[in-house]
Amino acid sequence: MKTTGTFSKNNIIITCSKKDLEFAQKITEQIIEMHQKLKREFPITKPILTNITLAISESVDDYIVSAEKKKEDYQDWMVGHSILKKKRLCLLSPNIVKDYGIEEMIQIALHEFVHLFFDYYFGEHNTLWIVEGVAIWYADQTNRDDIDIQSAPTIKKLEENFYDGGYIYSGIYVNYLIHLIGSETFTKIYANELNWQEYITENFEKDAIIFYLNQQ
Ligand SMILES: [Zn+2]
Repeated sequence: MKTTGTFSKNNIIITCSKKDLEFAQKITEQIIEMHQKLKREFPITKPILTNITLAISESVDDYIVSAEKKKEDYQDWMVGHSILKKKRLCLLSPNIVKDYGIEEMIQIALHEFVHLFFDYYFGEHNTLWIVEGVAIWYADQTNRDDIDIQSAPTIKKLEENFYDGGYIYSGIYVNYLIHLIGSETFTKIYANELNWQEYITENFEKDAIIFYLNQQ
């Protein structure tokens, strides 16, 4: 029996099953808060982003359709996705995700919202560590216990092979970049109007980690 329904709350359209409704409402509240926070921090000129859809899928097959992925490209760790042209956030239901708890799934939803925020207001950026880093940072997905200054990847390495441990460090590097250059310049980098390479200082990676660890 299909129990999925559509609900609307604060301009967010939710598609989910009854048992995920509470989870979906929690996410919705946090997305609204995140939107306010990011709007305060980053200068925006476009009309406010509204009519976002939050689609929570009860099966991997449904998720693949919702996230517009190809079956052969799907991997277990893919539990959240955002699609700018549809203003859609796609999540796999926490009922069927094994590797993450509810709080982590909420962070993943926020991560996807941050992608949507930056892609919508500033345009789609093409450097992966910057795109993922800003989402990791604002969704609060870094953990100081996972950081090792000695084995931290350089930005050059993140450009060559991001998926080999790049996520967390990208968040720390983006946080430091924004600290150095300010949020307005960062948005110009995101919008591909400025070149990020010009803002990377000597020993950037180590300085970024020290800055992060001192912030915690
Ligand atoms: Zn991401």
